[in-house]
Amino acid sequence: MHITQGPQFNGKASKRMHIMAKPIGAVCNIDCTYCYYLSKQDLLEYKKGCSPKMEKERLETYIRQYIEAQNTPEIIFSWQGGEPTMLGLDYFEKIVEFQKKYQPEGVTISNDLQTNGTLLNDKWCEFLGKHNFLIGLSIDGPEMLHNAYRTNRAGKGTFNQVMAAVELLHKHKVSFATLTCVNNLTSQNALEVYRFLRDEVKSPQMQFIPIVEQKTFRDTAPQTWAEDDQPKQGDKRLIPGGKDSVVEAWCVSDQAWGNFLIAIFDEWAQKDIGKVFVQYFEASLETWMGRRNPLCTLSDLCGKGLAMEPNGDVFTCDHYVYPEYKIGNIHHQKLDDMAYGPKQQQFGYAKTRSLTTQCQTCDYQFACHGECPKNRFIRTKSGEPGLNYLCAGWHKFFKHIDKSLAYILRATKHPVAHGKFSDAVLRDRMKQGIAYKTNQPQSYR
Ligand code: SF4
Ligand code: SF4
Repeated sequence: MHITQGPQFNGKASKRMHIMAKPIGAVCNIDCTYCYYLSKQDLLEYKKGCSPKMEKERLETYIRQYIEAQNTPEIIFSWQGGEPTMLGLDYFEKIVEFQKKYQPEGVTISNDLQTNGTLLNDKWCEFLGKHNFLIGLSIDGPEMLHNAYRTNRAGKGTFNQVMAAVELLHKHKVSFATLTCVNNLTSQNALEVYRFLRDEVKSPQMQFIPIVEQKTFRDTAPQTWAEDDQPKQGDKRLIPGGKDSVVEAWCVSDQAWGNFLIAIFDEWAQKDIGKVFVQYFEASLETWMGRRNPLCTLSDLCGKGLAMEPNGDVFTCDHYVYPEYKIGNIHHQKLDDMAYGPKQQQFGYAKTRSLTTQCQTCDYQFACHGECPKNRFIRTKSGEPGLNYLCAGWHKFFKHIDKSLAYILRATKHPVAHGKFSDAVLRDRMKQGIAYKTNQPQSYR
């Protein structure tokens, strides 16, 4: 689950959890077309007197509880929104002050902050650098691609402001990762996006996020949707922008997602291994070595990233902030009771328990695990509900990288635990006297 029972710390069992706190809720200074969170302002009934800002008393309660609920050498706070920098620098100074007040001896406290970058200035970056914040900066690629959807309230693109933030982050040596949304446009320009992030932004870590939004996502919680009318894999209604499409026009299609990852992987594998950090590729290497995937979307369990709204309401996951998935409130329940509670346990294990037969028999289940359940709204070709919208793209990608990852791991003297070119398969082939000719990826020929 989201709490890891690990080795002992301070003479007691280690306990760790992770919550994405949204002290400003869904409030944002810009208006990105595909933002999945802006609509929460209506869904969570902010208009009926619920404060869109977490008051400092409640903030202190949260910080105290979050620290008390954990027993681990490092406690990581994550701040998201909306746009959390709208709270102002003094709010974040208070956060650091509260953290110091409750910081146990021998424990490191770290922070990460997800931002669109448009409000960052020298003062902000001095603060972020001084307190070792890790920044997740949203940037979708070169100007035309970024400005297509990442616009302000007047409909103007935010590219220049975000690039100014990139400069400031580098200037003040603030650690950051780039978060790039893969939508119907960026997915068609994979290498342009990758080369821009690598050469212009000099992104220390690239994270790519597939944009998948059903037309009903604003008010219908995942897994509460009607299954009868769900399109089967390959159905035309799954093409974004198409007539009768069930997804928003700006979404990435399953095939485009696979092609996007493959194009970038091939360039990375030929030129940039060890120099450029692409989260999906590094995580896949771990999986092929036999380790658990560090990304929740591709691991076997959910529940590792709870979400908290400004009023203290806690939800099972950042992508499940719907009334059906509320598990409590920090004023009425203890955080670790919520995080360990039956509802969260059920949510976590449902990811594997609800896999379709197609996933259970898939060659790449070990790498994919049916991906994020919020995207499991299509049916298999045989009609079974609960297949992932991105399935065809993921399968194509994993099949493509299988041989290359085995080669990279062997070249770096690591075990190859999974895939069609794994050590076990190689041994079997040798036993059967079948030559193993193809452990070299095409990109290395
Ligand atoms: S629902 Fe999706 S985002 Fe949430 S924990 Fe599960 S895989 Fe991760
Ligand atoms: S690639 Fe498709 S079939 Fe295979 S595990 Fe992923 S979602 Fe399931």
